[in-house]
Amino acid sequence: MKSYVKVMLGLIGTGMLFSCSGKNEENFKYSIDEFADIEVLRYQVPGWDELTLKQKEYVYDLSEAAKWGRDIFWDQNCSYNLQIRKVLENILENYSGDRSSADYQDFLVYAKRVFFSSGIHHHYGEQKILPGCTKDYFGSLMGAAGCSDSLKATLLPVIFDPNILSTRRCQDSGKDLVAESAGNFYEGVTQAEAEKFYAGMEDPNDPRPISYGLNSKLVKRNGKICEDVWKVDGLYGPAIAKIVEWLQKASEAAENDAQKAIIAKLVDYYKTGDLRKWDEYNIAWLQDTVSQVDFVNGFVEDYEDPLNRKASWEAIVDFKDQAASKRTEIISENAQWFEENSPIDPRFRKKHVKGVSAKVINVACLAGDEYPPTAIGINLPNADWIRKEYGSKSVTIANITEAYDLAAQEHPNSILNEFGWDGNEKEQCRKYSTITDNLHTDLHECLGHASGQLMPGVSPGALKEYSSTLEEARADLFALYFLADPKMVELGLLQSGDEYKAEYMDYIRNGMMTQLCRIELGSKVTEAHMQNRKLIAEWCYEKGRDAKVIEKKVREGKTYFVINDFNALRGLFGNLLSEIQRIKSEGDYEAGKNLVLKYGVDIDYDLHKEVLDRYSALDLKPYKGFVNPDIVPVKNESGEIIDYRLEYCDDFIKQCLEYGKEYSAL
Ligand code: ZN
Repeated sequence: MKSYVKVMLGLIGTGMLFSCSGKNEENFKYSIDEFADIEVLRYQVPGWDELTLKQKEYVYDLSEAAKWGRDIFWDQNCSYNLQIRKVLENILENYSGDRSSADYQDFLVYAKRVFFSSGIHHHYGEQKILPGCTKDYFGSLMGAAGCSDSLKATLLPVIFDPNILSTRRCQDSGKDLVAESAGNFYEGVTQAEAEKFYAGMEDPNDPRPISYGLNSKLVKRNGKICEDVWKVDGLYGPAIAKIVEWLQKASEAAENDAQKAIIAKLVDYYKTGDLRKWDEYNIAWLQDTVSQVDFVNGFVEDYEDPLNRKASWEAIVDFKDQAASKRTEIISENAQWFEENSPIDPRFRKKHVKGVSAKVINVACLAGDEYPPTAIGINLPNADWIRKEYGSKSVTIANITEAYDLAAQEHPNSILNEFGWDGNEKEQCRKYSTITDNLHTDLHECLGHASGQLMPGVSPGALKEYSSTLEEARADLFALYFLADPKMVELGLLQSGDEYKAEYMDYIRNGMMTQLCRIELGSKVTEAHMQNRKLIAEWCYEKGRDAKVIEKKVREGKTYFVINDFNALRGLFGNLLSEIQRIKSEGDYEAGKNLVLKYGVDIDYDLHKEVLDRYSALDLKPYKGFVNPDIVPVKNESGEIIDYRLEYCDDFIKQCLEYGKEYSAL
C-alpha cells in the first residue's frame, strides 16, 4: 500500500521537529518540465556522500535491477504500449522535418504524456490520452520514421479512436470490469470467468492464503483458462532475467547476510514464480530493519487490476535517513498504545500489534509503477496474514516530499491562498502543514494500515473492487483521529497539540474541493486514494451538517469549507473509522460499496467547474513526477571504480530515451 501527496500547498515547513540529514546542493532547480496537466521535478539525494563505496555500489546494482523492469510495467498497462513507445522513440530520435511546427509540438506533448504515464492511458485518471495533432500528421511522422503501412493501420486507431481501449481500468459496476479494461492482466476472459477461476483456487479457511493471481496474466487459450506466470522462463522472462542478473550482482555488494538472504529469496521467486516464495521473501524483507540500504522490487500493488488481484511491477532503491527516522521510531514503539486506544469495536483490535517498523528514507532510484509519478509513503507487504503474524515495514520518503515542497515554492501561486478561508487558516497551514502532513503519512503507514484484524473466516478479498478505497480510508482516519490526540504532545511529536488543526483544514479543503482539480469536468473520482479522501470529507460534512461542524461558505461567488468545531470533527473521524473497520473486519461488501458509491465517486458539477476555473487561474499543474539522478561510476586510471557520483538530469525526454535504449528487454 502506498500514500501519495495529498495536496500541494506551495509552502515549506517551518515547524519540522526533525529535519532531513545530509546536505543539499544550493540553488538546485526542482522543476524541469511542464506539459498538459503534468510537472516533472528532480529530487536530490541527501546523505549520498556519507554512504560507503560498498553501499554506493549496492545502491547502483539495485538501481540497475530496478530500471530493467521498466518494460514490464509498460506492457502491463496495455498490450500496445511497448509498440507505441518504440514508435515515439523512433520519431523523437530521428525525425528530420520541422520540429518547431505547432503539429510537432502537439506530438511532443503527447509523447511526454505517454512517457509520464508509462503508456497511452492517463496515469491517474486512467482514461486514454488523445494526441493534440491530427491522425494524418501522426501518420506522416510514422511514415517518415519508416513505419510500415500495416503498423500504421494497427496503431493509429489505438492511439486516436476514443472508443478503442478507452480506459485502463474500468470501474463501471454493471459492466464487465475485466473485458472493458485496457490493462493487460487478462486476455479473452470475462470478469465472471476470472472470479470463478480464482474462487476455485482459494481456500477460505486457509489462515495463510497465497496471493493467487498476483504474478500472472490470466488467458483463455483454446477454450481453456490458464495463467501465464511472470518469471524468468515465463512471460516477461527477458526483463526478469536482467533484474535477476543485477540482483545477484547486488548481493555481492550487500551490507550484511540478511540482505543476501533476502535477495536469494527474491531471485528464487523470480525464477520459479512460486507465490509461497514471494511470501517467504516478504517475511525476510520486513524483518530486516537494521540495514541502511533497502529496496522494493517486484509485482507489488494491485491498484491497477479492476479485480484488485494482479500486481503492477515496481521498484525503488533507498537508504535510511537516520535523524528523521527518530520520528517514526517513536510512533512504531507505541503501536500497541494506539491500537488499544483506537475508537473501534474491541473485537476488531489486534491483540498484539507486531513489528510495525517504520523509517524515513531517501530514494536514489524510482522505477516501474513508481516512475515518474511516485508515492511519498509505502507500507509493505500487502498480504493480510503476513501483516497479522509478522507485521509490516513502513517508509516515508523524505527527499520526495521535500522536492514537492521546494518545487511548489518555485511557483508564486498556491492552492492554499486561493482556497483557504481566512488569514488564520492560511497562517496555521503555512506554519504547521508540513509537520502535520508528514506525521499524517507516518501514522497512516506505520499504524493505520497495520491496525485492526479480520474476524475468523472473513476473506481478505471480501470487499473486492472497493477494498483499496476502504483500506486507504481506514488508514487516513486512523491518522486523522490520532493527530489530535494529546498523546502526540506527550510523545514529543507535536508541541502545542493544536497543530493538528492545520491537517484537518487541509484534509477537508482537499477532500471537498481542491483534489478535484485533478479530474476532468464531467468525470467521476476513480482513484482509490482520491475516493477515500472524498468519502471521508463528504461523510463528515453530511453527518455534521446540522451542527455546522463543517460549514460551506460562499464569498464573492467562491465556495469555501470552513471547520467550526474541530473536536466534533475528530469525533466524526472516529465514528467513521469504527464503521469502516467493522466493514473490513466483517467483510461487509454491501455496506462498503454503499459508502464508496454514496460519498466517494460522484462529483457536484457546479462545484467541480468552480474548482477547475479557480485552479486554472493559478497556473499550477495537478500532477507531478520525477526523473532519477544518474548514478555514475567513477574510475581511476587502472579502471577500478573508486566512487559513484550522482548526476542530476534536467531533461525529461532525454532520460526517457536513454532508458529506452539501455533497458529494453521486451
Ligand atoms: Zn495507504
